[in-house]
Amino acid sequence: MQTWEEMKELQPLAGQMLMNSFKKDRISHAYLFQGNRGTGKKDMALLFAKSIFCKEREGAEPCQHCRDCKRIDSGNHPDLHWIEPDGQSIKKEQILHLQKEFTYTGLESNRKVYIIVDADRMTINASNRLLKFLEEPSQQTTAMLLTESGQTMLDTIRSRCQLLAFQPLNAKRVEEKLVQEGVSESNAKLLASLTNNLTEALEMNEDEWFANVRKLVIQLIEVLQNKPNEGLLFINHQWMPHFKERTQIQRGLDVLMLWFQDVINQYVDRDDAIVFVTEKERLNQATMRWSRQSAAACLTYVLEAKQKINQNVHPNLVMEQLTLQLQR
Ligand SMILES: [Zn+2]
Repeated sequence: MQTWEEMKELQPLAGQMLMNSFKKDRISHAYLFQGNRGTGKKDMALLFAKSIFCKEREGAEPCQHCRDCKRIDSGNHPDLHWIEPDGQSIKKEQILHLQKEFTYTGLESNRKVYIIVDADRMTINASNRLLKFLEEPSQQTTAMLLTESGQTMLDTIRSRCQLLAFQPLNAKRVEEKLVQEGVSESNAKLLASLTNNLTEALEMNEDEWFANVRKLVIQLIEVLQNKPNEGLLFINHQWMPHFKERTQIQRGLDVLMLWFQDVINQYVDRDDAIVFVTEKERLNQATMRWSRQSAAACLTYVLEAKQKINQNVHPNLVMEQLTLQLQR
């Protein structure tokens, strides 16, 4: 459950614009929510719908407990319609069906709201159909079109919508939001350092594969620190089997980079910047193994390895070379 205050922290501009439309009692017929995955578009659309339907709202804030609010939460409000791609695309029939629904008078009011998720994935026929619908707006209808890439939509549709640009979230906000969602503080810090996509971060938090990446990075550091001769052995027998695809290898290298960044943070006493908060003891030991300069060099080596992976150099070669560089 979100409030406008929370949404405004996440998306200050878009949140403020929507809140204002209640204050000025000027709700548009159509909005285009544009922004990357994980920037809060769905949450905002849901909250906006609640504010529209809630009869006990104060200012823009819906009460969250009336019949309307509750039915929106449970996904069965009769006058709120969601359209999502059916397979690869949103088809003309889906828009026709929506239009038909809208010809019926609402049971409790004539207010109707529809939300189209991945609106850029409408077929040409569906787009043209929707355009007709947008061209004859009824007083009581509000459309929210959600998209990651609004540029690919018909100009004629875009021009009929009020555009709301959703910004990438900054790391601090992602971290706070993750903690609110029940993620442990140490995980929240790590995840927020890897992605500004809230949805992806939450998925990674549940992902056993990713939990093992964190473990493997710590193990690799242990090996490099205490048994450098076994570095290559570790890479071939423990590390490589876990990373099958290039995107996975990149993820592993990202986490490794954060580790060396932390070593440097440890040197410069930037405690609040440290990501591996539960590994303070290990970080301390690491400063005995790597000087500040060599930690900076390691950071560069990892970056170079990432570039090589991008250039399609064989992952085994890249990782072996990197290991030799890191244990120097
Ligand atoms: Zn309510």
